[in-house]
Amino acid sequence: MSYCVNCGVELDPTASVCPLCNTPVMNPKAPVDRESPPPFPLVRREVEPVDRRSLGLLLTGMLGAVAICCGLLNFLAFFPQVPWGWYVAGAAGLIWVWAALPFLVHMKFRYCLAADLVATAGFLALVAGLVEGWFWYLELALPVIGLTSFLVAGLAYCRIFHRSRLTTLLVFLGITAVYLLGLELVLDYFMEGTYHPTWSLIAAAVILVFGAIFLTVRLRPRLRAEFRRRFHS
Ligand SMILES: [Zn+2]
Repeated sequence: MSYCVNCGVELDPTASVCPLCNTPVMNPKAPVDRESPPPFPLVRREVEPVDRRSLGLLLTGMLGAVAICCGLLNFLAFFPQVPWGWYVAGAAGLIWVWAALPFLVHMKFRYCLAADLVATAGFLALVAGLVEGWFWYLELALPVIGLTSFLVAGLAYCRIFHRSRLTTLLVFLGITAVYLLGLELVLDYFMEGTYHPTWSLIAAAVILVFGAIFLTVRLRPRLRAEFRRRFHS
């Protein structure tokens, strides 16, 4: 058994240099064993990174196969009078846009979100068409998707124009308040046909207080500098 003369690490009999500090091993009483295989590989290899495109194509194939198989099963064998194959195909399409499309096409995050929202609206439209439930689609699903798009667009604006963290926070708070008020409006009209804002008003009031605090910080240079120092923004 040899030890490195430089760092003292215990050496394998096959080591001709110290694996830690690269000092040549010289021990006249225990020459380097050049016959046995080394305990670890000498060539450094790296795990091949997963090819995004292949992964996207694999997902596309899997989802396509599921949609086609279920469609055939539905129309040829199982309950042809109930179009359940369409639901599966629609869900496969939705998952494809959400999970596979970002691997196949290099898209900016905001375009991915926009595609996700359009796909969700499309899938819900398919369900609404199949169950003849356009009223909930038009009065509930579509307005909620529209409101969510508004939220996403506001956040995208902050990212595109590289606004400071404080401005982003203010925009986010403002959008969230409008979003919650809009959500209660949509839900109220859908369920009761009238509008009596309660929880969204409370939430908006709390957001307003925080917004006022942050706006004060934003407008006062000294406070702003302090905020920047603390939050590195
Ligand atoms: Zn060493």
